[in-house]
Amino acid sequence: MTKLHALLVEDDPVDVEQVRIALSKDGFEVTSEVTDTAEGFTRLIRTGAYDIILADYKLPQWRGMDALDVLRRENLDIPVIVVTGYLGEERAVDCIKQGATDCVLKDRMGRLSPSVRRALEEKRLRKERRDSEMELARKVEELARSNRDLEQFAYVASHDLQEPLRMVANYTQLLTERYRGKFDEQADKYLHYAADGALRMQALIQDLLKFSRVGKHQVELRPTESRAIVEQALANLQAAIQESGALVERSAIPVVMADPSQLTQVFQNLIANAIKFHGVEPPKVQIAAEKKGEQWEFAVSDNGIGIPADQQQDIFVIFRRLHGRGEYDGNGIGLAICKKIVERHGGQIWVEAQAGGGSCFKFTLPAEHSRTTQAAHA
Ligand code: ADP
Repeated sequence: MTKLHALLVEDDPVDVEQVRIALSKDGFEVTSEVTDTAEGFTRLIRTGAYDIILADYKLPQWRGMDALDVLRRENLDIPVIVVTGYLGEERAVDCIKQGATDCVLKDRMGRLSPSVRRALEEKRLRKERRDSEMELARKVEELARSNRDLEQFAYVASHDLQEPLRMVANYTQLLTERYRGKFDEQADKYLHYAADGALRMQALIQDLLKFSRVGKHQVELRPTESRAIVEQALANLQAAIQESGALVERSAIPVVMADPSQLTQVFQNLIANAIKFHGVEPPKVQIAAEKKGEQWEFAVSDNGIGIPADQQQDIFVIFRRLHGRGEYDGNGIGLAICKKIVERHGGQIWVEAQAGGGSCFKFTLPAEHSRTTQAAHA
């Protein structure tokens, strides 16, 4: 027997009895209340936890279908089945459109139980979906919070470590300068290692601080001339460009919604890498953009050493590098910063292999008119 707590919206005691008999016959253990007025209905649904509402279409004092409005107002998800005399197809469709689960004719009571079972099953599925959506929302919030905590930790740690580290770096340097050659050769080597290690740690801590600062401020998206941003990035990289003899080509690049100083950082990091990781040929860098729906897709490609396919995701992780310091200098922070900035703009970043060797970094940004993408993800 399936327990069923039903609310019957009905004015005819004979029909009430018929409904009860039909349900009991098909294995329902029914408990029920009956009402035929709006006030009675509202009072009852506020107090009783009903599994189902079986409503006559037309009552002398009230339209049974109005029950749907009351349920919506009260924010209750209880399935409503219209149980009625002749209704006509058009009205039946209308009832379903308004939110009833089904319509059952009084002279076809055999259909009532299957209809109730289906309504209960649909309600169970709705609840399951709501629960999993809520669980998902909770997990997203938890993840965002733990991300914020982690970011805060990285910021505080890198900020507070700077001062003691400065002491270590200054004094090991002082020691190296003052006492070089005063002990034996071994001691000189140790002093050099200590000073070098302290300097490297300082660089790492400063990079970590740079990385966590990206997340500290809200992104202010505004129409930004990306051509000017690229020119600024190239001006900042002038020394590296001249030294390497790099050739930089740019095709028409558009206005996008972005935070100008953060976008400069993205271009600067990508172009610097395109120059740094060159092969035997002098670096050749191409900057282009292509409209893809509501977004612009930028591409910064080079003719350099390329990136193996199985490592194309890893390189965006903070401090992840594919080469030793002896080969190419750097700390492995540049791409992690690019990823953080682009994602805070509501875009994505990835790398593709170039057909003739080299790499092509791509990222998306909202186009100028898509102001709805005011992404300020923390
Ligand atoms: P860094 O440049 O300081 O090493 P990044 O985060 O900018 O740090 O890059 C991470 C790694 O990704 C680099 O060490 C390098 O191995 C690889 N990489 C980045 N850009 C390129 C590129 N244009 N060509 C080849 N490898 C690259």
